[in-house]
Amino acid sequence: MKYIDLHAHMVSRTTDDYEQMALTGCVALTEPAFWAGFDRLSPVVFADYFNRLTSFEPARAAQYGIQHYCWLCLNPKEGEDRELARHVLELIPQFLDRPNVLGIGEIGVNRVTRNEIATFIDHVDLALRYNLLIHIHTPHLEDKYKGTQVIVDTLVDNRRIEPGRVMVDHAEEHTIGMILDRGFWTGLTLYPQTKTSAARAVDMIEMYGSERLCVASACDWGPSLPTAIPHFVLEMRRRGHSDRLIRKVVYENPMAFLSQSPKFRLTRESAESTW
Ligand SMILES: [Zn+2]
Repeated sequence: MKYIDLHAHMVSRTTDDYEQMALTGCVALTEPAFWAGFDRLSPVVFADYFNRLTSFEPARAAQYGIQHYCWLCLNPKEGEDRELARHVLELIPQFLDRPNVLGIGEIGVNRVTRNEIATFIDHVDLALRYNLLIHIHTPHLEDKYKGTQVIVDTLVDNRRIEPGRVMVDHAEEHTIGMILDRGFWTGLTLYPQTKTSAARAVDMIEMYGSERLCVASACDWGPSLPTAIPHFVLEMRRRGHSDRLIRKVVYENPMAFLSQSPKFRLTRESAESTW
């Protein structure tokens, strides 16, 4: 079945992974800027990173017929460094008119510190200034509930925010309700070992429905699976869900959210393919 993976860190993956994704129906993906596994020492490194996200990766994806889009930011973990944040925030605007940049992300918080929240707010302001979509990371494990609440409250307090233009990702059973109730989009990120499994994602869809909800592989340099969405499709089928509902979650929903950016346009071949 054709699908759009809204969250995939392809800089950490091999070209074989693009091939596997294409073979399993991926027609487009979006790549948020994230933490590299170590704290980067200089803002210059981010210029290289943003260059890669806007030139090399779309070219690599195109070899397999996958359309590559991205989100730019200083990630929540390094956002603790306010000086670095100031430099990276100054750097971002020069990349915003590149054809595959959809918005600002994945921003958010990690340990929910005062500095992280300040950097998060600066990124939100940047997105509003340029009328961009926003993609948000919520923390993992013990910080998830508190972090998600702080993010949602911060956004709701800002009257300029249109919730329908914001994706609050990495939702779990105890946070999905508060995200959807406030009108935001939400994402379930599927991991082979830790965090949300395909089975738990299907449980959440059975409990909360499929409105404003997407699934993604969130594949990166850690244990993760670039073909997590096809595994989710299998689990949905195993539970007896219709292809219509599955297609809505893996293709039509991400299409609806992302198409709010004038830059997100599938090629005619991808759009008309009946895979
Ligand atoms: Zn991520």
